[in-house]
Amino acid sequence: MKPQIHRISIPAIMEVGPNKLEELDRYIIKSGITKIVLYIGEGIKDLFGDTIFGALNKNKRLKVLEDNYCDENSMEYITTKAFSIPAGTQAIVGIGGGKVLDVAKYIAFLSDLPFFSVPTSTAHDGFASSGCSLYINGHRTSVHARMPYGIIVDTMVIKSSPEKFIYSGIGDIVSKVTAVFDWLFEEDQGVTRVDDVAVMIAKKSVNSIVRMPYSDIKEFFFIKELVDSLTMSGIAMEIAGNSSPASGSEHLISHALDKMTPNPQLHGIQVGIATYIMSLVHNHRYERIRKFFSDTGFFDFVKTLKLNPEDYVNAIDMAPTIKPNRMTYLHIEEHREKAKRLIYEDEMLADIFNVI
Ligand SMILES: [Zn+2]
Repeated sequence: MKPQIHRISIPAIMEVGPNKLEELDRYIIKSGITKIVLYIGEGIKDLFGDTIFGALNKNKRLKVLEDNYCDENSMEYITTKAFSIPAGTQAIVGIGGGKVLDVAKYIAFLSDLPFFSVPTSTAHDGFASSGCSLYINGHRTSVHARMPYGIIVDTMVIKSSPEKFIYSGIGDIVSKVTAVFDWLFEEDQGVTRVDDVAVMIAKKSVNSIVRMPYSDIKEFFFIKELVDSLTMSGIAMEIAGNSSPASGSEHLISHALDKMTPNPQLHGIQVGIATYIMSLVHNHRYERIRKFFSDTGFFDFVKTLKLNPEDYVNAIDMAPTIKPNRMTYLHIEEHREKAKRLIYEDEMLADIFNVI
């Protein structure tokens, strides 16, 4: 067997800081790209339309060949758009939340064009990964596309987004702790082989943010660290060629909740809670996670959501069926039982779920 040699694509442009939206034109043109198609999330035009078009119209060389305001992520919409791209388009630019970025990313992938990812919230690592979550035949489905060519994040915009999105990003980044633990466990079971560099990057992504000093999650420095860490998580997946370095048993619980509950919470909120549960089951770094979630206010925020503990119990039972080919801790009954017990027995979880 020949050794596997990595060929990965990583973003060529990475701009993170305050007021980056005002200079959108500059970051696009500096790549030699002058003809773009825009996808903007519903509601984003009202909030940031003047800034976006102010930037894009101020340089005569840059031409917006088509602008789309989209709130749809069906495959039908995407393929229709992908096969009617205006002639001469050099790049697709997506601006908004996870949904519009996934749509624009997949259209760029189908059209073989570079994709600029301009998130207006950082609820998970999707803005910096090759994966997309799309509606196919009425079901939310994960599909593989390509890493963004450019990532441009205006930290002023992120700061102005509702706190829940920042908490969701916090939950998603901390999940690398349990995801990597599960991946290494799978390797021990002989089920898979981990990629050492992907493990290293996934670990670094979470370690840098949980160890940094900050006083408020809306500080620019903290937001930048969150964006950088989520991007590293996306790169770890790209290196691995799958989602394992960023998604373990904690993500299975969240995917199960998405399937079972009529109104799931934000991805990173569910993932964050499941990460704390799994860190206790793994008996690995749970004190650090508890401290970080307490200090950032993640746990206090979660308490306001009035979550149903039974949903989490059922999601834990369903978790292994989400990815039957994997062998995370939750694929073993004894660990599922422990996870379910902890919801009622761990002091912090009992408090969050209001079961004291
Ligand atoms: Zn995630």
